Amino acid sequence: MTASAEFTNETPLDIVLGAASARKVETAFGYSTVGQMLSHFPRRYMEIGELSKISELPVGEDVTIVAEVKSVNQRRMHSRSGFLLEVLVSDALGPEQSTLRMTFFNGYEAKRDLQVGSTAMFSGKVTLYRNHLELTHPEYSLLDAAEEADPRPIPIYPATAKFPNKKIREVMELVLAGIGTAGFPEFIPDPVLKSHRIPGRVVSYEHIHRPQTVAQGYAARKRFAFEEAFLLQLALAQRRAHRMKQPATSRSGTADGLLAAFDKTLPFTLTDGQLIAGREIADDLVRGHPMNRLLQGEVGSGKTLVALRAMLQVIDSGGQTALLAPTEVLAQQHYQSIKKHLGSLGTGGELGSDPRATRVDLLTGSAGAAERKRVLLGAASGETGILVGTHSLLSDMVRFVDLGLVVVDEQHRFGVEQRDALRSKADMPPHMLVMTATPIPRTVAMTVFGDLEVSLMRTLPPGRAPIATHIVPLQLPAMQQRLFARMAEETAKGHQVYVVCPRISEKAVEDDFLPMPIEPTPDTTASDGAAKPATMTVEKMLELLGSMDIFANTEIRALHGGMPSEEKADAMMAFDSGRASILVSTTVIEVGVDVHNATLMVIIDAENFGISQLHQLRGRIGRGGLPGTCLMTTWLDAEHPSVMRLKAVESTTDGFLLAESDLNERREGDILGASQSGSRSTLKVLRVMKDAKLIARAREAAESIVDGDDGLRTYPGLQAAVEEWVDEDMQAFLERG
Ligand code: ADP
Ligand code: MG
Repeated sequence: MTASAEFTNETPLDIVLGAASARKVETAFGYSTVGQMLSHFPRRYMEIGELSKISELPVGEDVTIVAEVKSVNQRRMHSRSGFLLEVLVSDALGPEQSTLRMTFFNGYEAKRDLQVGSTAMFSGKVTLYRNHLELTHPEYSLLDAAEEADPRPIPIYPATAKFPNKKIREVMELVLAGIGTAGFPEFIPDPVLKSHRIPGRVVSYEHIHRPQTVAQGYAARKRFAFEEAFLLQLALAQRRAHRMKQPATSRSGTADGLLAAFDKTLPFTLTDGQLIAGREIADDLVRGHPMNRLLQGEVGSGKTLVALRAMLQVIDSGGQTALLAPTEVLAQQHYQSIKKHLGSLGTGGELGSDPRATRVDLLTGSAGAAERKRVLLGAASGETGILVGTHSLLSDMVRFVDLGLVVVDEQHRFGVEQRDALRSKADMPPHMLVMTATPIPRTVAMTVFGDLEVSLMRTLPPGRAPIATHIVPLQLPAMQQRLFARMAEETAKGHQVYVVCPRISEKAVEDDFLPMPIEPTPDTTASDGAAKPATMTVEKMLELLGSMDIFANTEIRALHGGMPSEEKADAMMAFDSGRASILVSTTVIEVGVDVHNATLMVIIDAENFGISQLHQLRGRIGRGGLPGTCLMTTWLDAEHPSVMRLKAVESTTDGFLLAESDLNERREGDILGASQSGSRSTLKVLRVMKDAKLIARAREAAESIVDGDDGLRTYPGLQAAVEEWVDEDMQAFLERG
């Protein structure tokens, strides 16, 4: 075997497997090297040692059984296309033969694998369905006679129909036979391995793919999770260290400038959260290094004001500022609210303005040529202190004399290049403040936004009225009538109503819309409940409401990203001014929109939205001291997994609690914003929520190395590993912060 112990990460799989098999692996998983194959980790292990007896299965728990297939039966589903495969199995473990039913939705694979008479290991959750125990979509692995007698755990891999678990295990045998410490040298320093009790690299590959015990498999997984966290944190620590060496203009402000004047005019006192975050930002701006700070705060916590005060400090120090918003609607709102907040202090450049005043401008894609020219000139001449805008700010045409601070609102919608484009508009790196209303737990922030400092505002300004949230099951016919009547009640009181729909029309969705995965469930609703109609759209809702007598005298407007800018602005204005009582929209109102008289929000087919999204949406109401109500409608059964999400939102208004349940349920790729960037998550093993402690420990270990005298240079092997790792698509990931 010694001759073959020469594989490295880059060894092509066709050398190991032969061309034909290598091609199949490539087709199934896209892997072409030994390193990629080795990183195809099992999702879990099944173990004969922990077998349950069919006769004693506990409802609601995860079990593993070995059983023989007795019958296979396929039937059509009532309510949706596809088929249901029912497999009856029995084991020989109970006092008498007991059978168990399993169901697979569109179980093409199971249909092929599970023949009558075959024996397999199955594992899944036991559910009670119409008085029968069953496993729904269990995982399984076919067993031959030798395996039935083998006590070692069986790894369960992400597999495909053409490349099932068994074949992956065969391939892994061949790959593992050829790896050794020469081709896969350890790069984590020995003291780190020891103090964190992390097994070595080659041993870990062996153990994760061929464990003697399940515990051994999980210990190996921990190694790879730590490795990933460690490399990431090393890269982030280096970036932080690098930033601390970069110069930036210190913006200390003045005692009697705009900021001081503004603070005197404030009609309210700042919340504790605003004061603390404000202080942290003010201190950063004074330093001679570029600030890179994330301002996190609940919806409505008053982030804009904190950002505005930071901008004024920079203007007081002779600099200019830019505020970048993700949508035109939001840019408009920011512009107006800044103008309103500043009053006469924001009228710079206008006739007879306050001598201390600065100039505030708005630049969006819809600006006419003359207006555009005026705005560009203002920025280029240095007269404009605050330039608010959308992506248009990124254009080469936009020039500043001295850009000192860039504020990015809802950063997750902006890509890397875009933020770089803004940074490059200044000779020296400007200070950067990123605002987000999506609460991010600490370890996630540490991972995803790695080198950003974080300011947190958990308190809301006083006088916020509570928001009551209810799920409205539309299967009950009376509910639909009740829903519209409730809307009419609200408009009759002179209040305003948001109606949010998942789609613009049958054909169009918002660009940033991510449909939530709706898992297959037994089609229980089909036989007894009403059939679920097609997803509601803005167009259909507008038509429906318009045709109803109760809304005959109500102005109803639509707002979505597919409308021309003037129409959007017009609709927003109509709603903002109170003229329109009902706004039917998509998620474009999710961020920032601030209409104090709105008291009711109806979210249609709410299961289409994620937890954080729902929380953001309902944050639009209850802003003016009037209590708010959020109604989330759904056609789904109360037991449907997607309704769990709605129940979570119904149960609390604490954004941080919700963020945690959201993250727990989402795929990692979504957390990292991969869905925005279009690439897959770069984290392979690490789970930002589950591995929180491990990430924190990896961060400490990484910092102590980078902050040491020679930094990462002390460990050339490790340095190379970090560089290689950063090289991949990681660069983009790091830049995201
Ligand atoms: P966020 O962007 O954090 O969701 P906003 O900045 O839109 O919140 O603020 C929401 C509303 O609260 C705005 O109308 C703002 O004027 C108001 N507001 C901000 N700070 C305070 C405060 N300290 N006291 C009272 N109202 C405030
Ligand atoms: Mg805001």
